[in-house]
Amino acid sequence: MMGDKENPKKPIVNNNKKKKKKKRGGAKRKMNLEQTVAYKAVSEWVFLDQSNGCNNSLSFGDAFLDDFGVQWYQPKEKLVFEFHSHTTCSDGFLSPTKLVERAHQNGVKVLALTDHDTMSGIPEAMEAARRFGMKIIPGVEISTIFYSRGHAEPVHILAYYSSCGPKESAALEKFLGDIREGRFLRAKNICSKLNKLKLPVKWETVAKIAGKGVAPGRLHIARAMLEAGHVENLKQAFSRYLHDDGPAYSTGSEPVAEETVRFIRETGGVSVLAHPWALKKPSLIISRLKDAGLHGLEAYRSDGKLSVYSDLADANDLLKLGGSDYHGRGGQHESDLGSTSVPVLVVHEFLKIARPIWCSAIQDILKDYIKNPSESNLQNIMKFAKTKSSKTISSSITNDLINQCLLSWLSKEETENADFENIKLELSQVARGELE
Ligand SMILES: [Zn+2]
Ligand SMILES: [Zn+2]
Repeated sequence: MMGDKENPKKPIVNNNKKKKKKKRGGAKRKMNLEQTVAYKAVSEWVFLDQSNGCNNSLSFGDAFLDDFGVQWYQPKEKLVFEFHSHTTCSDGFLSPTKLVERAHQNGVKVLALTDHDTMSGIPEAMEAARRFGMKIIPGVEISTIFYSRGHAEPVHILAYYSSCGPKESAALEKFLGDIREGRFLRAKNICSKLNKLKLPVKWETVAKIAGKGVAPGRLHIARAMLEAGHVENLKQAFSRYLHDDGPAYSTGSEPVAEETVRFIRETGGVSVLAHPWALKKPSLIISRLKDAGLHGLEAYRSDGKLSVYSDLADANDLLKLGGSDYHGRGGQHESDLGSTSVPVLVVHEFLKIARPIWCSAIQDILKDYIKNPSESNLQNIMKFAKTKSSKTISSSITNDLINQCLLSWLSKEETENADFENIKLELSQVARGELE
């Protein structure tokens, strides 16, 4: 399933224009003590590059007392996080560079790029983000299927990785590659179903719309249907033909949802269930995925309010997250990048869970590299770093690895310990060994 399912059904994006405006103007809102503590912790992580680089302690805002003697703080700037976005590497309309530019224009400080079943857009996004000092969380939205006693339904699971990418990145790449391959087959099946329904859509057109090397999804097929004049708009293509169990619907070869959650954990990622409002059996799916190790679910709507799925998150002790699921279609009902930014308290909770996972993943990745310091292993790590990797291996690699992967992601407290000292020592030995 491409990232199309949620969109025709998205009731949450309507009628909130005014509220959204209000929320956006909230950059100068005052914060209470609890929020300030969260704001400080989150800013420290967001601006780690600066603080690690020059040792300056950041100032977070001015404190003052209100009429009742309660201390409040004025935050320096709003920390807008975007946790869910797509590019032309899957079914989005903007290239990774354009997406980053738009995110920056919208004030986004941290952008998770979560294309469907591919992480191929991450390096370009990283490169573009350097110009703006924006942080990119390497992510992916994985298409899965949930099965339960004769019931099967598509489930999208978001995975968030560290600046060194996933552990066992080759295994993840294979996992995603298999899904993409199944997607080609599925798109062909859908085309032949449409042809039988006397709505001819050429496979070549779909492939062209998807773009070279991009696994086609329902949104691409809907665009081909629109071009052929079979429907009046994309929404109609879904509501009439392409929706789950619709007359032209076909499944691909997606992995089982629970297995995917376990796999994300094994590869050092944080897993979050995407758009639970698109599910037919949300409570069953959420509790099963929780048992498999799910970390959170999308509970924030585009107007910044909590959806009813917030209760399910609480009942299952899951993180509550949210993002715009921006595709760049440009329709008036599309939530823009950064518009579903979650409160700083929520981001803080997310980071409390994510950072230890990322920290231990980074250690494992570096230890693995020390064991097998091959060029390809290095390229795999550097793909997710903030810099285009140098093609030549030299002693500066050690610095590159540490500076680019670690300084932007881990604090001094996380890296100044015996474990990391050992890793750094061994890395420099590896580098010297390469030179000799
Ligand atoms: Zn989705
Ligand atoms: Zn999505």
